[in-house]
Amino acid sequence: MFDKILIANRGEIAVRVIRACKEMGVKTVAVFSTADSEALHVSLADEAYCVGGPRVGESYLNEDAILTVALESGAKAIHPGYGFFSENAHFARECEKSGLVFVGPSPEVIERMGDKDAARRTARAAGVPVVPGCDLLSGPEDAEAEAKRIGCPVLIKARAGGGGRGIRKVLRPEDAAAAYTEAKAEAEAAFGDGECYMEKFVSPAHHVEVQILADQYGNVVSLGERECSVQRRNQKLLEESPAPCLEGKQDIRERMYKAARDLAAAVGYVGVGTIEFLYSDDGSFYFMEMNTRLQVEHPITEFVTGIDLVKWQLRVASGVELPFSQDDIHVTNHAIECRINAETPDFKPSCGEITMLHVPNGPWTRFDSALYIGAKVPPFYDSLLGKLVVMSPTREEAIRKMRSALGELVIEGVSENSELQLDILANPEFNSGCYHTNLMEHLYEQ
Ligand code: ADP
Ligand code: ADP
Ligand code: MG
Repeated sequence: MFDKILIANRGEIAVRVIRACKEMGVKTVAVFSTADSEALHVSLADEAYCVGGPRVGESYLNEDAILTVALESGAKAIHPGYGFFSENAHFARECEKSGLVFVGPSPEVIERMGDKDAARRTARAAGVPVVPGCDLLSGPEDAEAEAKRIGCPVLIKARAGGGGRGIRKVLRPEDAAAAYTEAKAEAEAAFGDGECYMEKFVSPAHHVEVQILADQYGNVVSLGERECSVQRRNQKLLEESPAPCLEGKQDIRERMYKAARDLAAAVGYVGVGTIEFLYSDDGSFYFMEMNTRLQVEHPITEFVTGIDLVKWQLRVASGVELPFSQDDIHVTNHAIECRINAETPDFKPSCGEITMLHVPNGPWTRFDSALYIGAKVPPFYDSLLGKLVVMSPTREEAIRKMRSALGELVIEGVSENSELQLDILANPEFNSGCYHTNLMEHLYEQ
């Protein structure tokens, strides 16, 4: 195991990784921006260094500054968390060149799966069904022709997209050319890469994803699935494991797990990763993308499998062989995560200083956050304030437990979305266990 690692992130995920390191006896190096000098990850780490100004390009995406701190502090590895450098092949390669271990798959694998258009081809070659669609669009006319061929509605998606951004819906083929031009410009601005592809808009559909853990010796296990169909603007809000839409469908589950493991094995995947599928109620499922990193919603998988994903991520990165096989993995109980975002009821970002905080507690209740009274929520970063996670023997009990926990949660100083989460938990469609990625649209229609 590494004796010291640098955590190239902030907020709840930096805190999550630092805690795992402390429990494993690994020394931690934090980096922070000038806006985060009083942040929790800074005070919890053994060492902390300012790497630049508040804008992400100046600090959390400042490759030179972060690599310099890593080398000078004597860190042996860099944990990227999620977002920032976590899916950046160039950064992973620079780590390698500097003799540092990037906690994640190889730069080649990040490249291969990070390009969502190339990933579709890789998945298809590994025998995994992909959403009907096409490869990169060559221009507006091509977009219109493909929309006709595939059949509307379709989505134009940026190959470099992520975080729910870079996706545009097209309802009629005659709208495809204009939508393509707009999508391309948007993707260029957001990701520095304007290339787009097209997929059939699968609806109604469930977002079901499979967690993978792989070591350096070719061992790959799947750790159950998560349903993330509660989304607003293609961004996840609430996740649960197991997926209620797969209840009693063990054969489909097994096929999905196998597809995920096959794909991970086909690319020589190492570390934790997630394969996202769209699942239709007729039993079909399609590969959507692979996230080659730790996922925001990983705690629900930790609850239902009893496996600490961050610790295993560090162990496999340091060369440890997985001591368990697929037969040793058992999913029990039901876990739900609610993302607590700093936002106003009309979804505008909210920032400020935390003036009051009360966090629910009790058996199988977990709140991953970097909050404390006096903590600052700056305007420069992701709006995620924390993740409330609960587990109970059944889904019904987990919903009740989450409602109770959310009812207790108090965060003052910024606006947050726990009322919205309570509305979701009270929604009959959500409670039925069969709800789709359009659930939030239905919620607003009421
Ligand atoms: P998850 O897939 O783990 O649920 P999200 O899609 O919510 O994660 O993204 C997690 C974080 O990573 C968010 O801060 C999001 O903005 C960021 N992120 C994800 N993909 C990209 C990308 N391609 N470019 C920039 N940021 C990204
Ligand atoms: P990101 O990289 O931003 O996470 P994804 O490809 O995972 O992008 O898509 C984000 C969300 O958009 C999905 O969870 C799903 O709800 C919706 N989505 C994406 N592709 C399709 C599709 N072909 N049909 C229907 N919904 C889709
Ligand atoms: Mg996704």
